[in-house]
Amino acid sequence: VENEKESKITMKKKEDCQPAVFIPVDRLPEIQEARLKLPVLAEEQVIMEAVRENEFVVLCGETGSGKTTQIPQFLYEAGYASAGGIIGVTEPRRVAAVSMSHRVAKEMNLSTGVVSFQIRYEGNVTKDTKIKFMTDGVLLKEIQKDFLLQKYSVIVIDEAHERSVYTDILIGLLSRIVPLRNKKGLPMKLLIMSATLRVEDFTENKRLFRTSPPVISVEARQFPVTVHFNKHTAMEDYTGEAFRKTCKIHRMLPPGGILVFLTGQAEVHSVCRRLRKAFPYRGSVQHTDAEDTSEELRKFKKVNKKKTVSLPRIDLDNYSALPVDEGDEDRQAGIDDDAEEGSDLDLDLGDNPEDAEEKADPSIPLYVLPLYSLLAPEQQAKVFRPPPPQARLCVVATNVAETSLTIPGIKYVVDCGRVKKRFYDKVTGVSSFRVTWISQASANQRAGRAGRTEPGHCYRLYSSAVFSDFSLFSEAEITRRPVEDLVLQMKDLNIEKVVNFPFPTPPSSEALVSAERLLVSLGALEEPPRQGRMVDMERARLSCPITPLGRAMAAFPVAPRYAKMLALGRQQGCMPYVITIVAAMTVREIFEELDRQASSEQESSKLAGRKARFVQMRRLWAGQGPSLLLGDLMVMLGAVGACEFAGCMPSFCEENGLRYKAMLEIRRLRGQLTNAVNAVCSDMGVCVDSKMAPPTESQVVCLRQIVLAGLGDHLARRVQAEEMLDPKWRNGYKTPLLDDPVFIHPSSALHKTLPEFVVYQEVMETTKMYMKGVCAVQPDWIPKLIPQYCHFSGPEKNPAPWYCPHSGRVRSQQQSTFFRIGWKLPAIEL
Ligand code: ADP
Ligand code: MG
Repeated sequence: VENEKESKITMKKKEDCQPAVFIPVDRLPEIQEARLKLPVLAEEQVIMEAVRENEFVVLCGETGSGKTTQIPQFLYEAGYASAGGIIGVTEPRRVAAVSMSHRVAKEMNLSTGVVSFQIRYEGNVTKDTKIKFMTDGVLLKEIQKDFLLQKYSVIVIDEAHERSVYTDILIGLLSRIVPLRNKKGLPMKLLIMSATLRVEDFTENKRLFRTSPPVISVEARQFPVTVHFNKHTAMEDYTGEAFRKTCKIHRMLPPGGILVFLTGQAEVHSVCRRLRKAFPYRGSVQHTDAEDTSEELRKFKKVNKKKTVSLPRIDLDNYSALPVDEGDEDRQAGIDDDAEEGSDLDLDLGDNPEDAEEKADPSIPLYVLPLYSLLAPEQQAKVFRPPPPQARLCVVATNVAETSLTIPGIKYVVDCGRVKKRFYDKVTGVSSFRVTWISQASANQRAGRAGRTEPGHCYRLYSSAVFSDFSLFSEAEITRRPVEDLVLQMKDLNIEKVVNFPFPTPPSSEALVSAERLLVSLGALEEPPRQGRMVDMERARLSCPITPLGRAMAAFPVAPRYAKMLALGRQQGCMPYVITIVAAMTVREIFEELDRQASSEQESSKLAGRKARFVQMRRLWAGQGPSLLLGDLMVMLGAVGACEFAGCMPSFCEENGLRYKAMLEIRRLRGQLTNAVNAVCSDMGVCVDSKMAPPTESQVVCLRQIVLAGLGDHLARRVQAEEMLDPKWRNGYKTPLLDDPVFIHPSSALHKTLPEFVVYQEVMETTKMYMKGVCAVQPDWIPKLIPQYCHFSGPEKNPAPWYCPHSGRVRSQQQSTFFRIGWKLPAIEL
């Protein structure tokens, strides 16, 4: 009787929340057939029942089990998109949001106007959209406009295991929004999807969910993967080792795709080249270099083979940039893997690995494709298509292939065990890309890629002893990066006490304190009181309310320092330039990498020629006169201006060392920022004039001041000869937070000029600590524009502000001219 009673209660509950409709979907037979093989299909009822009965549900299933493509379809069929709201799906990566929306539209036989996507720069959402894929950042912005997200009846947070910062925050916010909606009689559901079983941070977190949400795991490993460890601990030369292992697999093992995991673009290219050389492919499909940015470019090259392409005349005659050690935005993940060690397919390479190259049999076709996040989308899409007949597919990838993209037909995985990650120094803000060991979860996730279509093998280029030293899981991103952008966004959502926010994993209090401090000094938050009890002051420091300037800044989809520049951009018609500079600084690496390794002498001389030309172009863009002082930002401005002047053609980028993809992104971001600026200050009416004229002399001065106001905490002063105690300081710059010197990179526009005071975009540590995005500023601007970073001394004789090499601060006695920069100021008076 007890049981019956209970089941009646659940029955009633079910009826209550069950959408009454079933929306039929007309799929093609071959799609339907492929779907039936996916593990989540078998669990459809269980999943949908859990969703009906609970506000929050967590779904775990290995990559490739069908979560992203199928769950939105289940929800659609169950009527969640027809009850007055739509289905929203968030992805941490743009590439996933776009490609998954296309895939789902195709599977459902619906137009992209119904299954749509929205990412930072673009989207195809219409009024008929029922399923909307978007990046997590896009949904966060929507919450700012409508806290209850009334458009949606269900939100699916995908790839939650990646622990991307926005995903974490969305989960925190939705843990409050969903109950609020249901209380108001506007039913809403949240489904969190993870590729790993490690979801305790969400489920066992009492601050997030008072009662733990149900966790449904989908059994997904279709085929076992045998893991082979290296006998020797770990090779230094893991790219060489990866190459040799791949050669051996290709020569000795049965058909099946090979997926090689490396850490960065340069490594991927080098291994691709070596493999293509070892196994030249003579099929109908030609290998194309990844540098070719698009189909269009190839066509262009064909047409223009004989003609020499002459540069269009460019009015902007100024600019240089800094090849920064580029890293892939790699994220980590993991699953449990029960594959065993050792088998008959163990390839013993331990003792004489060198011979593999010589013995390679070039008659076996190997179809080699690179895959990394900066690769042009057309090139990325190639990995989904079947390889040419009889050829073996070999994808050489960075971490992007770990969870977000499932490449069909992979039977062998070669795992170098490393990942390139961005590290931030919490105190100094210096960032660097470093290659580190992956976590055990990541290693298992990588191995899992081999068992998708048949039993597979994973060759780890490290020993089991090294593996057991790996950390179990990778850290949440929020604990590793600065959080000032998040704090500003949250303050704009009126979450004043960010410390109390239900983060799945809270950021360190250090990070929160420094974020609030930066935002206060940018004028985005009100200053905390300087008087009162110590405890109260401490508390107030972590709960400063947002200012009107802060609200304006939060409306711009860029980091607070750049948002500040935009907020000040209305001086002297500078806004279009500020927008362009900010867009260029926000987009990763606009210049082609110059320091690529050449594989042959012929290629090396070709590369040297290109490099010389690019360097020359950058010098041209930087100019000579006053514009040179805008430094690397002038180079960016000139590159964008010149590129737009030439019609933003792939050919122009190719000729001048610009990344075509970056240029397109800048163009989109300029449009988006212009709209945002017009929305914030409706009286401005800024237009996107892609072919803007170069800035005038006085505009250049103004731009440098605006940049100083935004990057005030990134001020550096050249060390004077008399202060130079140690030769390591030669040509070095002193910054407030670092003990060691930072330098202007040889490729910077200001490398020869060495101005006394500069501001920089960021410091990257490569061989030395180099400033990236350097711009010269005048000392007398400093106390006026960034007084918050100055010590003001008494009315002494010395009238000029000076820079204290010990505290790193600028001193000045010009207290009388001290004023704060506010959003409303018509112009910066100097
Ligand atoms: P999960 O989200 O669980 O990792 P997905 O839903 O992304 O799984 O993938 C399910 C299946 O759909 C996989 O077999 C994958 O290879 C296939 N798939 C995904 N995108 C495409 C595509 N664009 N073309 C062909 N197959 C695809
Ligand atoms: Mg997925």
